[in-house]
Amino acid sequence: MACPPETSEERKKRARAILRALKAAYPEARTELLHKNSFELLVATVLSAQATDKGVNRVTPALFARWPTPEALAQADPEEVGRVIRSLGLWRTKANNLVALAQRLVEAYGGEVPSDPEVLRKLPGVGWKTATVVAGAAFGVPGIAVDTHVARLARRLCLTGAKTPERIGRDLEALFPRKDWIFLHHAMVLHGRYVCTARKPRCQECPLRPYCPSAG
Ligand code: SF4
Repeated sequence: MACPPETSEERKKRARAILRALKAAYPEARTELLHKNSFELLVATVLSAQATDKGVNRVTPALFARWPTPEALAQADPEEVGRVIRSLGLWRTKANNLVALAQRLVEAYGGEVPSDPEVLRKLPGVGWKTATVVAGAAFGVPGIAVDTHVARLARRLCLTGAKTPERIGRDLEALFPRKDWIFLHHAMVLHGRYVCTARKPRCQECPLRPYCPSAG
């Protein structure tokens, strides 16, 4: 649908109302990927590409039990890793990436996960979205990572007309206070996953309805 014309002031005002509604609806918004530390979060986020969080959570307990540290995973046979994660999409590529990622962490960063998203995104299997999610959730570095849920919701709410995740993220960051960026990512993921779903958005029960030009 076409977004109605509005001034940038009007859009910012609407964005503030959306933020308030999301804070009320998801006061504890955080990732649903199971993890106990930044390494596990990094691995789980790499695995979540083209996979659901539930699917990832089904394989990670066995993965982390067998290879609990970067040092252990760096020594793993990618074939063995593949056997543990083969219920996920792109499992072969992901298995190779995870071992290469762990090797890089050990060789270049002393087995620690870097906190800088610019450094993270250069690691094997780590793109812009994963780097932003991990830097935000593990180290509190502000950023709005854009996955399929965030992108869909941002467009339906007419907060962006951009198509690429990077551009959508920049549009959102211009509309919301920096201190709320990490919360906003998690809240938008949850809202897109459970309310503003791709096929059948549940507009009648949506707390964003008063501020949403796409409300049906
Ligand atoms: S009102 Fe409907 S389209 Fe708009 S955000 Fe809510 S569920 Fe999505």
